[in-house]
Amino acid sequence: MNIAEKFEHYVLPTYGRIPISMVRGEGARLWDSTGKCYLDFCMGIATCSLGHCNPIVTEALQKQAATLVHCSNLYFIPQQADLAEFIVTRCVELPGKVFFSNSGAESNDGMIKVARRYGHRKPQANGEPRYEVLTFNQSFHGRTLGSMAATGQDKIKAEFDPMLHGFRHLPFNDLEAVKAAIAPETVAIMLEPVQGEGGVNPCTPEFLRGLSDLCKQHDLLLMIDEVQCGFGRCGDMMGWRAVAPEVKPDVISWAKALGGGFPIGGFWVSDRSMNGQGTELSSIMGPGSHGSTYGGNPLASTVALTVLREIHSNHLPKRAQQVGERIKNGVMEMNSPLVSGVRGLGALIGIGIKPDMLEIQEGATIASTVVDALRDGGLLAVPAGPETVRLLPPLNVTDDEVDQALVLIKRVLKSLS
Ligand SMILES: *Cc1c(COP(=O)(O)O)cnc(C)c1O
Repeated sequence: MNIAEKFEHYVLPTYGRIPISMVRGEGARLWDSTGKCYLDFCMGIATCSLGHCNPIVTEALQKQAATLVHCSNLYFIPQQADLAEFIVTRCVELPGKVFFSNSGAESNDGMIKVARRYGHRKPQANGEPRYEVLTFNQSFHGRTLGSMAATGQDKIKAEFDPMLHGFRHLPFNDLEAVKAAIAPETVAIMLEPVQGEGGVNPCTPEFLRGLSDLCKQHDLLLMIDEVQCGFGRCGDMMGWRAVAPEVKPDVISWAKALGGGFPIGGFWVSDRSMNGQGTELSSIMGPGSHGSTYGGNPLASTVALTVLREIHSNHLPKRAQQVGERIKNGVMEMNSPLVSGVRGLGALIGIGIKPDMLEIQEGATIASTVVDALRDGGLLAVPAGPETVRLLPPLNVTDDEVDQALVLIKRVLKSLS
């Protein structure tokens, strides 16, 4: 049986897979099983921020794998403590505490549990718990029952209803809509600093500041999904800070870049006072409130700490800004009739493709048509919604590699138009 047949027979067909097998990676390059080399500006969808098989990460992984892979959270795990310390003091830079999971959806489920518990500790005037989380149209928060219910895209939810109760989706960047929506049962607002899967839509500084003010006025939790934006991608260690640095979130979730390609996620809860006295918000997730067998194990924690130290000490958030500017300017200079605009923040970049300019095959979108052509030309990108081509280069990509990608993009846009 060949690979395609094995997939057909043995793997659930939940993904529309491209019939290519990647077999080796190094930095910004990937090779498939036929020996074809690609410039990878997809990076496992925003995971491998240091490029493929970064030697420093590989060495840390190998060393820890030969020492201790897993150990239960029944015991202290020193690597987990070091990672949490680094995240709190060097990345979030606000007092708080971290819980470790294994993926983005799982981290968001944990974040939603924090909101639910807060709604019990700070109930409605009638004593009933608050529970409703406001999220946004075109958001993406994951595929578990909780994170899917939080997601503001119908296609993700089709035929999985009834949904977990207690979410409402509002227009993004529309503060008045949020003001009007807050109800007695509302307990939190949850958003991505830049909607990644939903089309690379950055939230405006005014919107984020406005949400933060509304949260204070109505005693709501401000919950930031940094799964795609976090750890340098948007030009700051934290995506929200690249939008509005003065905002102080209550809860933050991560995954993707945290492990540099190794599975790990987590969420942070602020130590701020929740009652004007000494009780810290983070204290509501006490013993027995949450858990994960694999979460924060020695191997995952070691890899993540190595990744974050590299990003931090090499000033890669700043590099992400430069890379983003170079790509944005380069694409705009092409003056392609196909391009409607370039959006994004740092090295999370969306190229808008104009509708009705391309012939597309059944089942394809204009974005996937361009992504297919780019891949044939040797550049990996990924669609974000039907009309946006998303570029997620490694944060340590060289100017030379960026310029090679721009040449490929220019050639492909020309051949398509
Ligand atoms: C990818 C993503 C998720 C889901 O992460 P998984 O690790 O696939 O569960 C959640 N939120 C955002 C913003 C994402 O980009």
